[in-house]
Amino acid sequence: MFNALVVEKDEESGKTSAGVQQLSVDDLPEAEVLVAVEYSTVNYKDGLCIGPGGGLVRKYPHVPGIDFAGTVEASSDDRYKPGDKVVLTGWRVGEAHWGGYSQKARVKADWLVPLPEGLDARAAMAVGTAGLTSMLSVMALEDHGLEKDHGPVLVTGAAGGVGSVATAILANLGYDVAAVTGRPETEGYLRELGATQIVPREELTEVTRKPLESELWAGCVDAVAGAMLGRVLKQMKYGTSVAAVGLAGGAAIEGALITPFILRGVNLLGIDSVMQPYANRVRAWERIASDLPMDKLEAMIQPATLSDLPGLGRDILKGQVKGRVVVDVNA
Ligand code: NDP
Repeated sequence: MFNALVVEKDEESGKTSAGVQQLSVDDLPEAEVLVAVEYSTVNYKDGLCIGPGGGLVRKYPHVPGIDFAGTVEASSDDRYKPGDKVVLTGWRVGEAHWGGYSQKARVKADWLVPLPEGLDARAAMAVGTAGLTSMLSVMALEDHGLEKDHGPVLVTGAAGGVGSVATAILANLGYDVAAVTGRPETEGYLRELGATQIVPREELTEVTRKPLESELWAGCVDAVAGAMLGRVLKQMKYGTSVAAVGLAGGAAIEGALITPFILRGVNLLGIDSVMQPYANRVRAWERIASDLPMDKLEAMIQPATLSDLPGLGRDILKGQVKGRVVVDVNA
């Protein structure tokens, strides 16, 4: 038997409840690889799945946890053997398939990536889906021409998971990082991660009818969307790109929008980590191992256990989690 966080739904009231339960391997969904999970983490989607699901959970009872790292215990696929260290992000694990809030998980071999050299399971989960997405965003900006001497790169939702890792990666690569935050108390933390400029959230959330504003940013990793993305697009320098990752600030982009695309050739790059092909995932994890300093990663970590998850799920949906929550599922 082993411990897992199980979310159940009362069919009559429609209400969900989450708590730690004991499961056996026979309870797990069928798939090729059984993993002894060591660490998982808390992403925005996990917040939704710990609660009423937000349309993501297919079937109850459900074990959330969209990412995890651990050691292969059994495998019917030749690519993996017992003892291999692996990491999983995406593929709707933790949503349509039981996920990482569990001491054991059974998943498809295609969804796993070998843990890259230089990262252990805890560090891999300090990075997690949010960090992988940050790396994919930086890679996309560079593929679209971002270079160090082009000017400051903006990171929105900077004190959150995606924003913290993006700030640390960009700063480590030598970019000048402007971090947008609605929490002034996180200024010291963001400067420690390498931000050179702190932009108060309210400076970018007021909707304006101006078609364009002064050209300020050489690139942007945006985890917020909503009114903020509308303003940011108008402040991008000519020919630059925004990597749009999430919508913590709302799904609609507001304001007069078409002008930055026509008059300034701005690119809006949608970044999704969920269905990333194997080669991209491996490349991104290798770059994380080389481009993200471990001392910065340590500064982002908030440790947690399975029983802390219901409260943390509520916190992340309110934008109150700082950096990356790392869940030791065996603690
Ligand atoms: P977090 O909650 O850790 O961070 C989001 C941050 O956004 C908050 O910390 C806050 O930063 C800021 N924020 C929250 N609400 C608002 C608001 N109303 N207006 C402006 N800023 C706000 O979440 P994650 O970083 O894990 O995820 C961020 C987004 O990215 C989510 O939408 C998530 O679903 C998405 N995502 C997408 C992925 C993909 O593959 N595309 C992968 C991972 C996440 P501050 O306090 O500094 O202002």
